[in-house]
Amino acid sequence: MQWEIERGFARDTDNYNYLLRQGDKVWWVDPLYPLKFLKMIKKQGWSLEGILITHTHWDHIDGIEQVQEKHDCPVYVHELGIPDLTTAKNVQAFPADKIQLGDIEMEVHHTPGHHPAHIILQGGGVAVVGDVLFRNGCGSPLFGGNIEEIADTLIRLPEILNDDSVLLWGHDYDLGNIKWGLSILPGDPALTKALSEAEATTQNERPTPQPLRTWAEEKQVNLFARLDELQLAETLQSKNPDVELHPRAVAFELRLLRNQW
Ligand SMILES: [Zn+2]
Repeated sequence: MQWEIERGFARDTDNYNYLLRQGDKVWWVDPLYPLKFLKMIKKQGWSLEGILITHTHWDHIDGIEQVQEKHDCPVYVHELGIPDLTTAKNVQAFPADKIQLGDIEMEVHHTPGHHPAHIILQGGGVAVVGDVLFRNGCGSPLFGGNIEEIADTLIRLPEILNDDSVLLWGHDYDLGNIKWGLSILPGDPALTKALSEAEATTQNERPTPQPLRTWAEEKQVNLFARLDELQLAETLQSKNPDVELHPRAVAFELRLLRNQW
């Protein structure tokens, strides 16, 4: 069974949130400004079964209270994030490895780095990656994260993610990510093509919702998903001889350069 996906975008914070739907049952990922989806759920007569939190940065949890005023449903979060949900009701820790949501079993992966309590959920044709991975980019360590842990998590993604999983990311900074990528690998064919596509659709340089991609598609373009490419490692090493030709060293150096860009 596959999820039906509804995507919401909060333009002032560039956040995505999602409804994952099976029939008339829905689960809500990272509610922020909830009015659009509250209306949709009411109009369609759907039943909200639970709230799924990727991590507890304010822009992924701020709408919980408003949602729970209308719907009596549990909130699932990594156990390290429980203390952050002070006003939420019925808070439950994600099980360590799997959670059954209706007829779909979702894998639960703890993926710290951007945030200590970050999780990725995968199943039913999607991978909810939150702020671990973005279209052509990845989450930053600058808001209480840890760049060493980001590198550790990024090198695990090829084991975690299925090629055909559609990636549901928490933000869209596509144009900036692509331009940064091209500053690392000038003329890279995949990034050059992505740049022209993004420029054609991005309005006023502001993050603009871009099409979702599968992990197989993302691996063709996003440098943070191409850590085992020798040319990328050698390019980084030519600028910084301390960089070893190893995916983890590449991940660390890329994130460092992205922070400085
Ligand atoms: Zn975040």
